[in-house]
Amino acid sequence: MRTRELARADFHNHSTASDGRLTPAQMVDLAAANGVRVFALTDHDSTEGIAEARREAKKYPDLVLVPGVELSTDIEGDEVHILGYFDFDLIQNPDLQDALSRFRAGRFERGRLMVEKLKGLGKPISWERVLEIAGEASVGRPHVARALLEAGHVSSIPEAFDLYIGRNGPAYVEREKMTPGEAVETLQRFGAPAVLAHPSYIKNLGPVLTELKAAGLAGMEVYYRDYAPDLVERLARVAKENGLLPLGGSDYHALDNPGEREPGDIPLPSEVAKRFLEAKLPWVSTAGLK
Ligand SMILES: [Zn+2]
Ligand SMILES: [Zn+2]
Repeated sequence: MRTRELARADFHNHSTASDGRLTPAQMVDLAAANGVRVFALTDHDSTEGIAEARREAKKYPDLVLVPGVELSTDIEGDEVHILGYFDFDLIQNPDLQDALSRFRAGRFERGRLMVEKLKGLGKPISWERVLEIAGEASVGRPHVARALLEAGHVSSIPEAFDLYIGRNGPAYVEREKMTPGEAVETLQRFGAPAVLAHPSYIKNLGPVLTELKAAGLAGMEVYYRDYAPDLVERLARVAKENGLLPLGGSDYHALDNPGEREPGDIPLPSEVAKRFLEAKLPWVSTAGLK
């Protein structure tokens, strides 16, 4: 039973259009049930889920759907994710879709190489099955992990990462390099505000922020998932020092992972969400944010 009041806005969520377990429509239903008024769907390198989410969101006049994406990029020894938010009209833009496909290609090639490595390790899984699990989504390590679980090679998803496909695992494959700077520039080109995702995962944040700010980064996640108050405070300070707008989201995947937070179950204050929306996405009504 939840005792906290849920946030009215959530800017980071995944569906079956990437590696989440709920369909875009189910995600919208859950967000609405949780009282979320501004809900961003931000699948990895894909806007495939937006049309379905938009149809479903029509059922809820109090809910504003924000189309978004989470771009996968790499720096030396680390993965960096950049969130971007759009206007609906932009989703059909062929140049944007072209750009997204470049980010997706890395994840796809990488999945196939991991399947080959697993075969070499005597842990064969079927590439067709991995694609099936991924559905319309860009292939990610969670899909490979589920195929390993189904094939009986591991007894849990975390074990698949620990033994095989985690960063130091024998079947790990680096993705084709897209840099975070390229992601921010790509989003900039389409007028989409770019927000650095889960900055606490980045080992050497300072130089990354300096580079991305120069590329046009608009904000960074401060109120992420179950970030504790002291971490939130520290990141809020970093955001302020760098002239970045704070934001946040649950990064909900419906994977039943420990520490997972449902849409809205995050410490994002309404005034922070409002400030971001008014500055960067003026077409989004902030009426529902009390
Ligand atoms: Zn991420
Ligand atoms: Zn995410």
